[in-house]
Amino acid sequence: MKPASFDYVVPRTVAEAVQALAGPGRTAQVLAGGQSLILEMHLQRIRPRLVVDINRIPELDGMRVDGDGLRVGALVRHAAFERADAVPGPLGTLLSRAVVNIAHPPIRSRGTMAGSFGWAHPASEWCAIGVALDATVEVTGPDGERALPARDYFLGPHRTARRPQELITAVRLPLLGGHTGVGFVEHRRTHFCFAQVAVAAALTVHDGVISDVRIGLVNSADRPVRARAAEQTLLGTEIGPLPTGRRLPDGHPFARAGRVAAQEDAAPVAEPYADAEYKRQAVAVLVGRTLREAATDLGSRLAVRQGDPR
Ligand SMILES: Cc1cc2nc3c(=O)[nH]c(=O)nc-3n(C[C@H](O)[C@H](O)[C@H](O)COP(=O)(O)OP(=O)(O)OC[C@H]3O[C@@H](n4cnc5c(N)ncnc54)[C@H](O)[C@@H]3O)c2cc1C
Repeated sequence: MKPASFDYVVPRTVAEAVQALAGPGRTAQVLAGGQSLILEMHLQRIRPRLVVDINRIPELDGMRVDGDGLRVGALVRHAAFERADAVPGPLGTLLSRAVVNIAHPPIRSRGTMAGSFGWAHPASEWCAIGVALDATVEVTGPDGERALPARDYFLGPHRTARRPQELITAVRLPLLGGHTGVGFVEHRRTHFCFAQVAVAAALTVHDGVISDVRIGLVNSADRPVRARAAEQTLLGTEIGPLPTGRRLPDGHPFARAGRVAAQEDAAPVAEPYADAEYKRQAVAVLVGRTLREAATDLGSRLAVRQGDPR
């Protein structure tokens, strides 16, 4: 199928883009990487009257460390995160482990992190990481700038708190401190499919005790989920040595957190190849595995810091 006819503008500044989006009687769409939008337009599931191509707005490009956070401009492509050292510390590791699960290289070379927040697909890796880490979505509209906390931003599949006339200018993620280890584990049918379920975790440990933990669930509800009930079971827990077998013992705190995430945090929506019960079980297993990966990551970081060549 071909897209329905539409007008096309290429603004050079954020102000021009916002002016175009706010034009009277328009149903406008922003064209960033186009990796979701163009497909939807071809299928005529989206029929915008106007497409606002933001690819020629230099102020939207680039990312920078800004205080205790990383500000990712709206034109930064997924591929920018493939190298762990593109972003300092454990956040760089987390983003690099997650990004290889997003589609395949050509899509990652065009699609943008901000576009994923704009599209708000429940299976988006970035959106679950954003919710888990308390990211902020920066938008500019006719009434000025707003910073929307990711926890209030997602309202359902492809539904967000962003107003149609507002442009996402950046996504802001907190940098993670030195006592934090990270993990990301995904389950999907084939290499190119969206996740059936995936989990992101950031585990902070001081003096052997878990002092902070963030768990994000991908495609485990109609929107990205922070697994707060599971997190609560872990706070204040002594981490102890990790079990050696592939399977976590049922009584291990990470296994328990997985069961709590599956029962209390996830609200899975059935899909053709994964019913809700299957997804719930996947959440239970993957949360445990991801926490173990995060604890292992933290162990390596601390060993390197102490001069252990491991
Ligand atoms: C085969 C295939 C597999 C994929 N697999 C995955 C996957 O596993 N995980 C995953 O997360 N994604 C996946 N994607 C989607 C891909 O990551 C997209 O790049 C992403 O969803 C949207 O980013 P984009 O920059 O391409 O946005 P676009 O396609 O340009 O836009 C998407 C939507 O977001 C809005 N938008 C974009 N930028 C802004 C902005 N700055 N301000 C306001 N609104 C904006 C647009 O109006 C539009 O509604 C896949 C896509 C394909 C085709």
